[in-house]
This record gives sequence, structure tokens and C-alpha cells, in this order.
Amino acid sequence: MRWGTICFDLDNTLFSHEEAFEKAIFFCFDSILKENKLTNNIKLNELFTAFKKYSDLYWDDYEKGVITPKEYRRRRFLTTTQQFQLPFNQNDADHFHEHYYSVVDDFSVPYPHLYSLISKLVETSIKIGIITNGNVDTQYNKIKKLGLNNWISDDYLFISGELGVAKPNREIFDMAKEKLQSNGDYLFIGDSWEHDVVGSMNAGWDSIFLNTRNEDPSSSHQPIEICSTLQDVANIIYKENNLRG
Ligand SMILES: [Mg+2]
Repeated sequence: MRWGTICFDLDNTLFSHEEAFEKAIFFCFDSILKENKLTNNIKLNELFTAFKKYSDLYWDDYEKGVITPKEYRRRRFLTTTQQFQLPFNQNDADHFHEHYYSVVDDFSVPYPHLYSLISKLVETSIKIGIITNGNVDTQYNKIKKLGLNNWISDDYLFISGELGVAKPNREIFDMAKEKLQSNGDYLFIGDSWEHDVVGSMNAGWDSIFLNTRNEDPSSSHQPIEICSTLQDVANIIYKENNLRG
């Protein structure tokens, strides 16, 4: 058996966060327009396209800490709604996002073959865990909604918001290694080149890049494989670990 310990990233690795985001934003726009009787002539797909554009546009400032999370959310909402001449204010922006965060996990759908892969790994002696960046409640809720807590112990969930250290910092991978010690090698699977591939490989793990968002590699690191679906990842693990798929 090649890998004794296998850890996964969460968003866009085990489920499509992009899809959950899109469905939840559609749902929340539909509901805020109806609440305010503003449904005439507004196309939800056009609203979503603008919202996505401004989410991406302001993301850099948010990530660099130039604007607070609240400012980021208000900006993307108000710039979008102003473009459509909708009479919303900052309170509406806050209300919209509260609604979004309360429903988004309901739209999380696991990638095909997630459960067959996880249950297969649990049947064997392979140790499995999740290493994810983000707020502890948000990430834990997603894990629960996906039912992954039925297979993976809370001790094997490494959430940056709780640990105070985030990917790509090697410390978070070292913490996971210490808790999930095994005789085999260590494998990490994720969809972010920088956070997941570079982070894990610099910490001495093998890595599979699950490129669900068509990202270009930004360094010369050589992961075990670049895959586009979780099924491809599963097949590599089955083959390398001599498991029957
Ligand atoms: Mg991810």
C-alpha cells in the first residue's frame, strides 16, 4: 500500500462550491426581489453574472485586507443592484448576505463518487482527514451537510479558522501528519495549486491536483497527477494502493 494517510481539501474538491454559490445567489435574489415587489423585467441570470463579476473584481482588495468582509459584501451587492437601478441600501446588502449564508450549504451537492471513494478508504486501514481554510462554523456546517462527519472523526478535521494557521503554510500539514500518523506515505488532494499542491508538497506530502476550476499551475512543482474529476482521483488511489474500485 502506497499511501497510509490521505487528506482532502473541501471546497471544489469534494463538492462544487461554485455551483452552490450560484444556486444560492439566484435563490436569494429571487427572494429579495419578491419581498420588495421588484420582479418586473429583472432577469436573474443577468443579476447573477454582474454579481459574480463584482465578487471577482473586489476579491483582491478583500484578500489583501484593504476592505473588510462586510465592505466586500456590501460593495458587490450594491454595485450590482445599482447597475440594474434597484433601490437597495446597505441594510439590504447585509440582509441579503445573512440570507445567503443561511441557505448556501443546502445547495452543496457532493461530486459524483465521493461517497464510494470515502467509504472504500474507511473500509481499509487508510487514515483520512480534511484540511481546509475558512471559518470553523462555515466549514464544519458544509462537512455536516455533506454527511462526511459520519466517516471522518472531528479530530481529523483541520480547519484554519480553528487552528490559527492556514494553507499553504506547512504548519497545518504538519499538524495533520502528526495526528494521522501512518506507515505509508502521505497524500493530499485539492483544487488550488498554491494552497493545496504547493502547500502540501513543500510539507513533504505527495499531491494530486484536482483541477476543477481550470487553474494554470503557477510553479514548477510536479504533483503525482493532474485530474479533472474526483473519479479520476479515486482510480489513481485504487490503483496505487491496490484496492478494488
Ligand atoms: Mg478548494
